[in-house]
Amino acid sequence: MRVFTSPEEYIQGPDAFKTQLHRLLRLGNRALIVSDSFVMQMLGTDFVHHLVEQEIASTTILVDNVISGELLVEAKEVIKNFNCQFVIALGGGKAMDLGKMIAHVSNLPIAVLPTSAATDAATSRISVIYDEKGNFQKYDFYEKNPAIVLVDTNVILNAPQTMLIAGFADGIATYIEARSIFEENGRNTRHEKPTLAALSLAKSCHDILIDEIANACHAQRKGMITQSFENVVEANILLSGLGFENAGLSLAHGFHNVIMGDKELTITGSHGQIVAVGVLLQLLAEQRLAEYPFYHDLFADLLLPTTLKELNLKIEEINLQQFAEKILETKKAGNHISPQVNTKRIIMALKQLA
Ligand SMILES: [Zn+2]
Repeated sequence: MRVFTSPEEYIQGPDAFKTQLHRLLRLGNRALIVSDSFVMQMLGTDFVHHLVEQEIASTTILVDNVISGELLVEAKEVIKNFNCQFVIALGGGKAMDLGKMIAHVSNLPIAVLPTSAATDAATSRISVIYDEKGNFQKYDFYEKNPAIVLVDTNVILNAPQTMLIAGFADGIATYIEARSIFEENGRNTRHEKPTLAALSLAKSCHDILIDEIANACHAQRKGMITQSFENVVEANILLSGLGFENAGLSLAHGFHNVIMGDKELTITGSHGQIVAVGVLLQLLAEQRLAEYPFYHDLFADLLLPTTLKELNLKIEEINLQQFAEKILETKKAGNHISPQVNTKRIIMALKQLA
């Protein structure tokens, strides 16, 4: 079956966290905010004040250094005592993942309010589950996508530019991975057939990012919200989110999952930075050698990592055969890996990226 899924509503623009909070009212007027102390320090007071203006009462739980099992117990208690009607995930990857998990187990709707465009996690019904040490465990799938995704481009503008660029790499990966799945009649992360809509969104994400990333970065450095900046934010969050969730993930994310799951390694780099190297690995392993220099140079120009060393992954310290096998095994978690790709090809690609 061809299956497509998406959030109910996506809203993006400057000052959305001030002017668009009335849109949350359809979810209720008592909210549980799931966030971290850094974000709450930066935005919390104003945000809660603007919620109060809409007569939305809120209480907050913080996700810094928590173990998900303990957090769930705490969240259930708070939701019951405060009589919460919906969840607001405000922040980065961790707040979004744990917010979605809390909403799911509590059977409450969720509004996701990302504070950077560093990943495409906001729109999906997928949480990436890591253990307390930050290691990848699995994908969790929920019954529903977020009811609302609300993006304030002023907040994104004030986040570090490395985050926008990390999200760019994640967005490029969406298409590089989707393309392989379509070419090989593969399945998405839900083991369903992807729709044409998913491929067009992924392609559009890729093309807009290539065309507009330089202008968007320039605008951000000047502190200006331009059309290009808005376009890149939408590509990073909405187009990439719908693209990856509906078209599927492949080797670039398989590489990410494996290195994040290996407790022996001390990897440096954010999700998008790791995925950037994953994209190069996938292009090499799929032997798309004519394309490789273009993406390599594009990433290098944006100061994204293009080697394993830059992720603190030293090839002489890992068992390449086992490492390559683990990447192939991420098929079981739902990543599509091209049938052409075998351990030999992955090892060759790893050596080239050392
Ligand atoms: Zn990603």
